[in-house]
Amino acid sequence: MATVEHEQVEAEQAPSNLIEVENPGTGEIIATVPELDAAAVAELAARGRSAQPHWESYGFQGRARVMLRAQKWVMDNAERITKTIVSETGKTWEDAQLAEIGYAGNAFGFWAKEAEGFLADEKVRSSQVLVLGKKLLLRHRPLGLIGVIGPWNYPFTNSVGDCIPAMMAGNSVILKPSEITPLTSMLLAEGLRECGLPENVLQIATGRGATGAALIEHVDMIMFTGSTKTGRKVAEAAARRLIPASLELGGKDPMIVLADADVERAANFATYYSMQNAGQTCISIERVYVEAPVYDEFVAKVSEKVRELRVGRPEGPGSVEVGAITFPPQMETIKDHVADAVQKGARVLAGGNQTPGAGRFFEPTVLVDVDHTMKCMTEETFGPTLPIMKVGDADEAVRLANDSVYGLGASVFSKDTERGEAVARRLQSGAANVNDAMINYTVLELPMGGAKSSGLGSRHGAGGIRKYCSQQAIVVTPKLAMKKEIFMYPYKSRTSKMLAGLFKVMYGRGKRA
Ligand code: NDP
Repeated sequence: MATVEHEQVEAEQAPSNLIEVENPGTGEIIATVPELDAAAVAELAARGRSAQPHWESYGFQGRARVMLRAQKWVMDNAERITKTIVSETGKTWEDAQLAEIGYAGNAFGFWAKEAEGFLADEKVRSSQVLVLGKKLLLRHRPLGLIGVIGPWNYPFTNSVGDCIPAMMAGNSVILKPSEITPLTSMLLAEGLRECGLPENVLQIATGRGATGAALIEHVDMIMFTGSTKTGRKVAEAAARRLIPASLELGGKDPMIVLADADVERAANFATYYSMQNAGQTCISIERVYVEAPVYDEFVAKVSEKVRELRVGRPEGPGSVEVGAITFPPQMETIKDHVADAVQKGARVLAGGNQTPGAGRFFEPTVLVDVDHTMKCMTEETFGPTLPIMKVGDADEAVRLANDSVYGLGASVFSKDTERGEAVARRLQSGAANVNDAMINYTVLELPMGGAKSSGLGSRHGAGGIRKYCSQQAIVVTPKLAMKKEIFMYPYKSRTSKMLAGLFKVMYGRGKRA
């Protein structure tokens, strides 16, 4: 087994098969990990279940202490984690630093601090006369064993990141990282153990799709991030078992540039948020609609900025702006979308081709004269491409932005922020940023999730941890209660008439909530 850029991490289980992990920036095989079969997953599930009650008994403060140690561990080991992420994704140092190490620091601290508040018992008040004097509580209790299945584009943020609130809620977790990028998850599991996380509270089930499918058969809830196609399969499997599923799926995020926008800012944001992580972000800007008066200026600025980007193997901080295409089949999708657009009349103003030589890279690409007959405007490209379309007005931009099966993120640029917000509110998306893009992801207080085929449920915010719990309604009657209630047996005409009168007084005016 070859390892070049990081230490090999011990596998959790004896392998039935081995999966090779490639560095997409070099083409080298850097590690092998076991592919766990269904029996091995069942074994992990049994261990996870027996570890959970002890972990729950730590309480919020005890669990928070472990998470805060993990926050510090990530910062102390930032270089080692970054190297691991870069080695298995081929992304740039900066893309790993900002969206993974930065996210990790933020997320460990956020959930350590906020989990207790989000999950504290809620005292409920009721105007219902039958419960007058009773104590009413809504309680959130951990579901038990959570399965997390992650994609390859953010091995920390979209895999380990979703385990943090699940663990803070008091669950044990089995994480099935993408077969393409398992090393970051294995390293973090090791780090969490060093920070005092009890054995088997977080276990890593390395493997392919079948390992993920096996995991769904054993857990109490599944948190899935990946493509819409696989998300449907996960939803079906979860439905068969009647367990909740939270699905964070694909996107085709639109950006709208109105005629009164700060064109320089809009061009910088379009360039960065379409090319960041080589476009392999669920909430990348994947298409732009520009009002006619500023279209030429915007296109000229973006094309110039994109042509200046350096693409290639990341050698460390500051070496390149655009890294590798992590997942081999993704290269074919990107090439197909560009070729389809060109064949239907689009012009390439920058890039357009796979770069020659070792590693898997695609030139940062700008396409114009595009329309919705082209795949680049309707299907998720997930690569460093930016198609830009001219529109007559904001209404046309909104109509085209909403002409998609997806609805993950969106952005609107206008110096008139009220107008920008009004346009943002018309977009069918889980998030919409005005004069910004993607930034909502960093706001852990806000829910992040998709509309339409981009997902079900959300991460972050109160809902991002309550989804790992079941709700329990508790009603406590004080000890000085009557021996029986008035509506109980035996039924008497006088009591029935009295109750009818009471209901009329209470509800007969159509005013009482
Ligand atoms: P996939 O859907 O191909 O895979 C996601 C995960 O599911 C992988 O771990 C995969 O394993 C596993 N898997 C595959 N088949 C099954 C199955 N039948 N049952 C259970 N698990 C299975 O997605 P990608 O990894 O290609 O990720 C890219 C996609 O993720 C893009 O569409 C992107 O938009 C989306 N995404 C969404 C985000 C969001 O927050 N909405 C964030 C990040 C990405 P293996 O890799 O081993 O095949």
